Amino acid sequence: MKVHNFNSGPSILPNEVLYKASKAVIDLEGCGMSILEISHRSDMFRKILEETRTSVRQLLQLDEDFEVLLLHGGASTQFMQVPYNLLDRHMPAAYADTGVWSSKAIREARLFGPVEVVCSSKDSHYTGIPKKFSIPAKSRYFHITTNNTIYGTQWHKFPETRVPVVADMSSDIFSRKLNFNYFSLIYAGAQKNLGPAGMTLVAVRKSILGKISRKLPSMMDYQVHIENGSLFNTPPVFAIYISMLTLRWLKQQGGIAAIEKINQKKSDLLYQEIDSNPLFRGTVAKEDRSRMNVCFVIRDPALENEFLEFCKGEDIAGIKGHRTTGGFRVSLYNAMPLDSVEFLVESMRFFASRKG
Ligand SMILES: *Cc1c(COP(=O)(O)O)cnc(C)c1O
Repeated sequence: MKVHNFNSGPSILPNEVLYKASKAVIDLEGCGMSILEISHRSDMFRKILEETRTSVRQLLQLDEDFEVLLLHGGASTQFMQVPYNLLDRHMPAAYADTGVWSSKAIREARLFGPVEVVCSSKDSHYTGIPKKFSIPAKSRYFHITTNNTIYGTQWHKFPETRVPVVADMSSDIFSRKLNFNYFSLIYAGAQKNLGPAGMTLVAVRKSILGKISRKLPSMMDYQVHIENGSLFNTPPVFAIYISMLTLRWLKQQGGIAAIEKINQKKSDLLYQEIDSNPLFRGTVAKEDRSRMNVCFVIRDPALENEFLEFCKGEDIAGIKGHRTTGGFRVSLYNAMPLDSVEFLVESMRFFASRKG
């Protein structure tokens, strides 16, 4: 339909999802009203909300103890809401520092209680995932960022611990099989692998709540949202609808197991090209490479802009690295077709052949 969209977020969505959503903007399933006009308390919307929450539960195969909430505020609000609900002065929280997003989460947590940064890859400019560290048994929770969107690193192994694990999965949720029940709280901004900006997914075990005595504003209180079935206030109706369509699409693809295979293929193809093309070089430790965000540079910095311009001419969009890292970043979220990755790889080869 359009350009090869490698944006890091907001990012590519399946074509058929966009098509259905566009129809619903005019008339939601023949009801004579737009999805933008219906009441969030209507039966129609309740069905949409329940399908979305149930799909999340099914796809992640979550234990009964989990509640699925669809909230406002983005992952950045969760940086605050997590410690607001779980952390107080009596016991510290443990955090892994693996990049910009982790650092922001750490900064917010410190407003609510003691924070121990138990590992950090800052000294290596966040080009890897820390391996040797321990999590004090007396921690309220351990927080990690499963995929570091800006640096292109990803946790492939998780530490054994009895401390509840809280994970920011904004950029790799639904992309690979994991034992999601290893975690006690999972959150993700929707705009990378789930839907448009404006909705935040939170899956939280009820058993970790209510352990601190702080009084919370209602909107910040997970318990309030749970008691109200994720309908305490007007939820992000349209973003939830699109997320529901994306999850339907994911199920049609065969679920997480099937999409993981394709994601593996896409990232293998691109990393192989980066490793074999003399013009380019990957920037992170091989064993920690992300399958969602592939970061690399061009060996001759004088060619960087030329390559970007060349890609633009080929309708390849969104591959410029984050403003703090430079270089290139190619995001391969679930909706990114293999064809587009093949096209990118061919373009890298063609560019190299002209320069070689
Ligand atoms: C994009 C991103 C965020 C920020 O999400 P917002 O919804 O913009 O607040 C946080 N964490 C990770 C890992 C991200 O990729």
